[in-house]
Amino acid sequence: MAAGRFEIFVGKEILKFNAAHFIAYPGFRERLHGHNYQVAVRIEGDLGRDGYVVDFGLVKRVTRELCDRLDERVLLPEHSDCLEIRRNGEQIEVRYEDGSWFSFPVGDVLLLPIVHSSAEELAHYVASELACGLEAAGARPWRRLEVSVAEAPGQAATWIEAGAAPE
Ligand code: ZN
Repeated sequence: MAAGRFEIFVGKEILKFNAAHFIAYPGFRERLHGHNYQVAVRIEGDLGRDGYVVDFGLVKRVTRELCDRLDERVLLPEHSDCLEIRRNGEQIEVRYEDGSWFSFPVGDVLLLPIVHSSAEELAHYVASELACGLEAAGARPWRRLEVSVAEAPGQAATWIEAGAAPE
């Protein structure tokens, strides 16, 4: 057989979530707004004896669970360098450096271990969670994992990371 590599791609329409966010960095804050986000996954790796790189069903299930967790939430970057985020009873209060602030019910919010809720950092976050989920489900080691998060059709950011399988 000619030299080549296997890669699987999962970009199903159901791998989506809608969420509110705003980008904030020192000196600039977007207004609160939302997107219909779409997630796509590529995994490169060797074929197992089952003929799979990774079972499509497993990739879809784990990614779908992640999308469900992000769906209909206000996504807040807990490592922000310009937002002060704190819990006050059943509310999450978010204060920007200019003194403007929001208050959201705890259940409407998802705090993410990122600095900005950009498509780039969301793709990185989804990829790390997906990698953990796949490992926990016993997926065989892969060589490369790519996760794209689109904020709108034709506008996506991708995180690419090496897996545990040797080159
Ligand atoms: Zn946005």
